[in-house]
Amino acid sequence: METRRKLDALQNIVVGCHKCPRLVAYLQEVSQHKPRRYREWDYWSRPLPSFGDPDARVLIIGLAPAANGGNRTGRMFTGDRSGEWLFNALYEFSFANQPNSLRRDDGFKLNDCYITATIRCAPPKNKPLPDEIENCRPYFLKELDLLKNIEVFIPLGQIAFTQTLKCLRLKGLEIPPLSFGHGKVYPIPNGQTIVTTYHPSQQNTQTGKLTRAMFHQIFRMARKRLEG
Ligand code: SF4
Repeated sequence: METRRKLDALQNIVVGCHKCPRLVAYLQEVSQHKPRRYREWDYWSRPLPSFGDPDARVLIIGLAPAANGGNRTGRMFTGDRSGEWLFNALYEFSFANQPNSLRRDDGFKLNDCYITATIRCAPPKNKPLPDEIENCRPYFLKELDLLKNIEVFIPLGQIAFTQTLKCLRLKGLEIPPLSFGHGKVYPIPNGQTIVTTYHPSQQNTQTGKLTRAMFHQIFRMARKRLEG
């Protein structure tokens, strides 16, 4: 209960964050230029809180919210195409109670899993600037302190992988240089494990670089690690 309270307090701070002027301005612009299919939506257009099970053993690290996905609905990955892939895979391996989530009030729940991101505001063209990643890093570092049961990290894509390594090293772990690829399993000195995957972006899923089978394999490996 204490962990949940502290995580909630942290997420309240995140939602009120204005550290990146470019992103604050961009979120306002997005909500003023909605695509026709979403014109009835009242866009969230603030930083997105992380969410999930405070006792989670699996931590998923995304890149950044999608301007018309999570940034619209108010919850990471909710209502966007990457989320459709991610939630489907989580459901398949019992980390979620339903195979998709289109709104943040639809009863979707994560089990033994927590979702965070490298940055919490949607960036233009899905490309955060290095300074923006720096600005947002303290929130992730704080989550690493609070989420005490994590056994498996699943960073989605190369940037999230690089940033996860950086944060773990900042926490004092001596991790050698590791190469990115899909489906690599890296045990780290404190007994935790990093499992790498390509990001389920449309750029990867529509070109076949990432297939459903490849993506599900990642969560199968995570489940196996948890079962020892
Ligand atoms: S990206 Fe992170 S640090 Fe920058 S404004 Fe959003 S929440 Fe704050």
